[in-house]
Amino acid sequence: MQLDDLVDQFGRRAQDLRISVTDRCNLRCVYCMPEKQAGWLARKDYLGAQHIYRLVNVGLQLGIRDVRFTGGEPLLRPDLAKLISAAAKAFDEAGRPRRIALTTNAIGLERRLPELTDAGLQRINVSIDTLRPDRFALLTRRARFDDLLRGLEAVEQSALSPIKINTVAVDYETLTEVGELVRFCLQRGWQWRAIELMPIGPMRSAVAPTGAEILETLRSEFELVPRVGDDPHAPATTYTVAAGADHPAGVVGVIASMSEPFCTSCSRTRISAVGRVYPCLFSPLHIELREALESGTDEEIARLWQGVTRRKPAGHAWLPPVEAGMAMSKIGG
Ligand code: SAM
Ligand code: SF4
Repeated sequence: MQLDDLVDQFGRRAQDLRISVTDRCNLRCVYCMPEKQAGWLARKDYLGAQHIYRLVNVGLQLGIRDVRFTGGEPLLRPDLAKLISAAAKAFDEAGRPRRIALTTNAIGLERRLPELTDAGLQRINVSIDTLRPDRFALLTRRARFDDLLRGLEAVEQSALSPIKINTVAVDYETLTEVGELVRFCLQRGWQWRAIELMPIGPMRSAVAPTGAEILETLRSEFELVPRVGDDPHAPATTYTVAAGADHPAGVVGVIASMSEPFCTSCSRTRISAVGRVYPCLFSPLHIELREALESGTDEEIARLWQGVTRRKPAGHAWLPPVEAGMAMSKIGG
């Protein structure tokens, strides 16, 4: 039976599925998690490989094209390769090209990467807010900068493509590091992307650089040309950077989710580690899918997913403040 796509009341289509596989993490980024997090999800309730296979299998019938594993820190799942493999199997059986990505802090990645790429991982985003070890310890509350470097070396040796580095512009000091971060990425053929701090999690009220301020800083150091023809649903506004004396040409992006929301072209749908589907990161609206993934028919799963998608709000600009306690680490960033 043919299933209808995931379309909301404003005609937007959900095509990018973000799967959170844990709410736990080995870092405590100041904008994402408090030092002492209360109310962890129970590990026994995490979705397993069978759930992920079912989810991606039905998702592909509903118009999903891309799958990204995230968290919390997905590398904390010992069975992450099995989860990726389950998604890859669903893509293969549907005769669709695999589009499977991972968002990670890269801690411990050097030990895991071979099994993850063997399982079907193709793309990676690594979150790096600073290249200064002391600042890394301050921002993540953990002295694990050397571990990050080891993880990055493994990424550099891998066949993953594209490789993107995401930096949250957490404060104005970030702007002093933009040049260093961009060169670091261009020299390795990686794409650097700056992300505006979002008012979700522990730093909800902080004042941080806007996309325009980040762009101004970029322009003061690099020659940028706006790119045309990139994916219209991609959140980043991208620019080609001309080659310089100490770096080759490449691409950078700015994700101005707050100052220039891209809600009208949002194509995301998220599922938490325990199987709650969230159509919008900024709304508490969700539906429980776990039981249907275990014992429901494809049509039952589709009906629940389509129903909650239809109610997706227009955008965060029109919403009341976020429900207390909602954080990226819980829903999946
Ligand atoms: N642990 C992995 C990582 O850090 O890449 C995956 C999960 S993390 C929640 C996903 C992304 O969300 C990271 O790039 C992180 O920087 C971003 N993030 C978390 N809280 C944020 C906030 N308040 N504003 C902007 N980005 C945020
Ligand atoms: Fe962990 Fe990622 Fe959140 Fe940092 S941003 S605390 S690495 S989940």
